[in-house]
Amino acid sequence: MSLRIVVCVKYVPDATGDRHFADDLTVDREDVDGLLSELDEYAVEQALQIAEGRRQGGDDAEVTVLTVGPEDAKDALRKALSMGADKAVHVEDDDLHGTDVIGTSLVLAKAVEKTGYDLVVCGMASTDGTMGVLPALLSERLGVPQVTLLSEVSVEDGKVTGRRDGDAATEQLEAALPAVVSVTDQSGEARYPSFKGIMAAKKKPVQSLDLDDLDIDADEVGLGGSWTKVDDAAERPARTAGTIVKDEGEGAKQLAEFLAGQKFI
Ligand SMILES: Cc1cc2nc3c(=O)[nH]c(=O)nc-3n(C[C@H](O)[C@H](O)[C@H](O)COP(=O)(O)OP(=O)(O)OC[C@H]3O[C@@H](n4cnc5c(N)ncnc54)[C@H](O)[C@@H]3O)c2cc1C
Repeated sequence: MSLRIVVCVKYVPDATGDRHFADDLTVDREDVDGLLSELDEYAVEQALQIAEGRRQGGDDAEVTVLTVGPEDAKDALRKALSMGADKAVHVEDDDLHGTDVIGTSLVLAKAVEKTGYDLVVCGMASTDGTMGVLPALLSERLGVPQVTLLSEVSVEDGKVTGRRDGDAATEQLEAALPAVVSVTDQSGEARYPSFKGIMAAKKKPVQSLDLDDLDIDADEVGLGGSWTKVDDAAERPARTAGTIVKDEGEGAKQLAEFLAGQKFI
């Protein structure tokens, strides 16, 4: 029987470029370069490895990548498809503007259910919001177990198993499928798309869904439906030039005074 894996991938503003807030204090996602969140590349990699293992064992598997995001989020889907995913689902709707993590989890849960799944794989956190809570919210909405922050993951006999490395202990975890997992950046290097993969991705199906397709009312999402609200935001001040201390015999003293003044010592 085919194992249906859905990987949640997020399109995020490129952290090396200029990032801004829009007038309504949401992150400006329209006028900035974006990319597939690097932490989600690990999720795609683990999903591909699970699918490849199944196929080698004579079983079938299908990897669908799913994003909720603006038009340009298709770039993130294309990258995941060029890595080897089989198909993609893009949820886009003007009414999603301003949706917080609670709303995003609703949209993702409905899209995952519509797609059909045995296993949902997420990254450990996005590289812009970095809350790391979405996988837990998603499992709650779907009513299935969550096994999060795995640095090793495998699927066998209708179960997902994995290793979670914590500060104080290493845990070996398992859950019956269907389930939601998240994987860390310690789970194994993500592959680079090959030229063949990039060409093949152009022909792979990308399904577009909007809120109507998912039976979600506009007032459940967007700024109006969000449980959280940004009251104020200010750009980080530009870096000022550092202080250069010329050592004329008093260098060490001046250095110590500087560190003490900054409360480092
Ligand atoms: C167009 C748009 C506008 C938004 N506006 C706001 C806003 O105004 N205020 C606000 O609080 N939030 C907003 N969001 C939602 C926010 O960017 C996050 O998607 C959401 O809050 C999840 O939080 P996080 O990024 O910290 O996820 P984390 O919990 O850190 O993410 C963990 C994992 O969940 C998955 N994931 C997270 N987000 C997505 C996604 N969008 N699609 C697919 N998989 C995902 C990934 O696998 C990721 O690695 C907006 C999102 C979009 C796309």
